[in-house]
Amino acid sequence: MSDVKRVYTFGDGKAEGRADMKNLLGGKGANLAEMNLIGVPVPAGFTITTEVCTEYNKKGKDAVVELMKAEVEAGVAATEKAMNAKFGSKGEAFPLLLSVRSGARVSMPGMMNTVLNLGMNDDAVKILAEKSGNATFAWDSYRRFIQMYGDVVMGVEAEEGQHNPFEIVLDKVKNEKGYKADNEMTVEDLQGVVEDFKAVIKESAGKDFPTDPWEQLWGAVCAVFDSWNTERAILYRRMENIPEEWGTAVNVQAMVYGNMGENSATGVCFSRDAATGEDIFNGEYLINAQGEDVVAGVRTPQEITLEGSRRWAERNGTSEEERAAKFPSLEESMPELYKELDTVQQKLEDHYKDMQDMEFTIQDGKLWMLQTRNGKRTAAAMVKIAVDMMEQGYFDEKTALLRQDPNKLDELLHPVFEKDAMAKATILSKGLPASPGAATGKVVFSANDAEEWAAKGEKVILVRRETSPEDLKGMAAAEGILTERGGMTSHAAVVARGMGKCCISSAEGLSVEGKNLTINGKKIAEGEYISLNGTTGVVYEGEVATITPSLEGNFAKIMELSEKNTRMYVRTNADTPADAQTAREFGAKGIGLCRTEHMFFEGDRIWKMREMILAEDVEGRKLALDKLLPIQHEDFYGILKAMDGYGVTIRLLDPPLHEFTPNDEASQKEMAEKLGVDISVVKEKVDALHEFNPMLGHRGCRLGNTYPEITEMQARAIIEAACDLKKEGLDPKPEIMVPLVGTVKELKMQEEIIRTTAKKVFEEKGIEVDYLVGTMIEIPRAALTANEVAEVAEFFSFGTNDLTQMAFGYSRDDAGKFLPIYIEKGILKHDPFQRLDQTGVGQLVEMGCEKGRATRPDIKLGICGEHGGEPSSVEFCHRTGLDYVSCSPFRVPIARLAAAQAALR
Ligand code: PEP
Ligand code: MG
Repeated sequence: MSDVKRVYTFGDGKAEGRADMKNLLGGKGANLAEMNLIGVPVPAGFTITTEVCTEYNKKGKDAVVELMKAEVEAGVAATEKAMNAKFGSKGEAFPLLLSVRSGARVSMPGMMNTVLNLGMNDDAVKILAEKSGNATFAWDSYRRFIQMYGDVVMGVEAEEGQHNPFEIVLDKVKNEKGYKADNEMTVEDLQGVVEDFKAVIKESAGKDFPTDPWEQLWGAVCAVFDSWNTERAILYRRMENIPEEWGTAVNVQAMVYGNMGENSATGVCFSRDAATGEDIFNGEYLINAQGEDVVAGVRTPQEITLEGSRRWAERNGTSEEERAAKFPSLEESMPELYKELDTVQQKLEDHYKDMQDMEFTIQDGKLWMLQTRNGKRTAAAMVKIAVDMMEQGYFDEKTALLRQDPNKLDELLHPVFEKDAMAKATILSKGLPASPGAATGKVVFSANDAEEWAAKGEKVILVRRETSPEDLKGMAAAEGILTERGGMTSHAAVVARGMGKCCISSAEGLSVEGKNLTINGKKIAEGEYISLNGTTGVVYEGEVATITPSLEGNFAKIMELSEKNTRMYVRTNADTPADAQTAREFGAKGIGLCRTEHMFFEGDRIWKMREMILAEDVEGRKLALDKLLPIQHEDFYGILKAMDGYGVTIRLLDPPLHEFTPNDEASQKEMAEKLGVDISVVKEKVDALHEFNPMLGHRGCRLGNTYPEITEMQARAIIEAACDLKKEGLDPKPEIMVPLVGTVKELKMQEEIIRTTAKKVFEEKGIEVDYLVGTMIEIPRAALTANEVAEVAEFFSFGTNDLTQMAFGYSRDDAGKFLPIYIEKGILKHDPFQRLDQTGVGQLVEMGCEKGRATRPDIKLGICGEHGGEPSSVEFCHRTGLDYVSCSPFRVPIARLAAAQAALR
């Protein structure tokens, strides 16, 4: 004997386990134990620990059965005693039948095996028929057991292209007798089925169906352990990040029956509404049925409470007479048992201090609870339940905040698909969930069409190979954006998130060529409807109904609590006064990144920009820049005003200039005509701007250092706007940010231009404003030499999009091709453009902070890469000591909650 305890019994109000032993007993096992301890009626049984599963995988079946044998036998004996029944009864007592179920630490729905009615054999069925007075029920249980055991333990299944052999037997009987449903079969039919099932097993498995209950039990326990390592379970674990070594527990428990007759029932219930969060007991049940009947959809399940039943009838258009006669609530049909169930559900919710999802069975007038767990819920319910329970005194605000899943908040900020409509819709493809929300509309293929169609009142989805800044207005007009290429930080993804618009990128099997779109072989014409779920990345055919959730009081309450408990504050990435305003309403305290290049695409501004690009010398450029100056001034004025009193980080021009010039012949011709030059001049310029690696080419501060007049114009526009606002009595706080710095000298040179320009403007305007000059840390060398960079920079903003790109050497725009495969193969756990790679890229951030602070202790530190709105990355930023995170407007609430949670943990 070893001194390791492998089996924990429960039953009769006693238990060896507890709720906090989930790691050892699995979620289900721990809760079964706990329910016994708090006096809830639970069929007796025992849990074989998760550690045994690990042992099983190492030592193999025979060795482990030997190791646990005595304890399992004692567990069965204890169960027999508690239930006053006998396992393997030959007539001397009521037969003890068992359920054998998996139960990992966290629920893995439908992933592992279950065997019910175990212990059934030719003796047990007869005694059960006699003692229950219900032979149909007994024989039906027997045939169900053989079918399940044959499938799960003995591996009897359909051969390729064939029907399931058990179903063939059932169909034959039903056809011969003209039955429609299984439950029309008589005792004699079922007896024949049992014999035929045994023959099926003998034929398929090459051995007899085991009639010895112990042999059955060992087979089932081992089958549950084996199911930890099935392909689907492994895949699910990988998706949900569940470690291999956790293992599953096995719960062996006395069966109770909801199908013993009219005095029996079974059901599922929730202590609050899982969809809305309303504090109302609810659920469904069926009289004379097994658990699976409630969910199988063969019979219409009935509501548990009278209130719920009346609501159901109203939704369904069922009259009160018909409802009461045919679909009465449990409250009406079994009032005493209903009261008992109501007391139990309240007791469980009070005990676990969370909404409970419960399963129960009434066997011949006695209530048994089979399971309880914290219920899954929608975002609206998550928020409401936590706020309500806090106000009802269940827990404090810290718990209410920690109960929130920041990623789920997204559901509350964007439209979502109606659940039923989504379930019915046909899936066309799946891509990267680049920007959340749901959208439905007619397919268009160009930004211009998107604008035109939208102006006529059409809802459109813009479908592109990829997007570029030129598509901005079309993107704004569209309901959603779908691209063939691009990753999570592609132009489409970043811009769509900024706009709060749904976007899917790198959709599988999608190809778009001009106006020809095929998705996985299906042609979709311009003007046909498609629907996008940007939260999951799924593309649907046709129109799918959406709903727009409202931000009611509870959401505001959670935000208020976040505010109170956070250390870091949250800024937003916004390029327009409107976005700045939206973000401010979501609680953003300033702008962490204003990408000025986006401003050059509005209206006819692009022509002034192109004029600047075409200019042959400094003088020519200056002339064109003079035309851009008033426009930039107006933009900065609007943004600084919208964020009055808060810091606004404005980044100098960053992208390579080729992004502003057209590639196709027709547009080049238009450009030549508009700017009064020969088309050859335009072509030459486009050729000259061509780069092999534009993201590593002539961009960022390299532009400002080679064309100082651009920096000069932008700095002037920013400082002039700030001076004007200050004159109006406002409090503008501009922070000028230099992009893509790799050496301190690059920054120094830009700083000099900015400061000289500011000085001039102050003299001209006769007023001064405070402003900061700082830089992005987005090139690894800048992080490595942050102590030098901080000699000039008054703030650092970590540009973790480029920093990730350069630390990994993965192109931001091309990584969509291989990252999904890398993740599938387990080379990477997550897309590092979505979740900050704390191990690698994180070191650069930490080093940047440390070295920056060593030179300049009061340096302001923030992050403006896409990671600034991703909860695990926000937590990292908190730990690293950043002052703020900055993210797209619609992610601001998520970041605020994540920052507060990080501070509380
Ligand atoms: C970054 O690189 O992280 C960043 C915010 O800048 P951009 O995405 O515009 O390159
Ligand atoms: Mg960058």
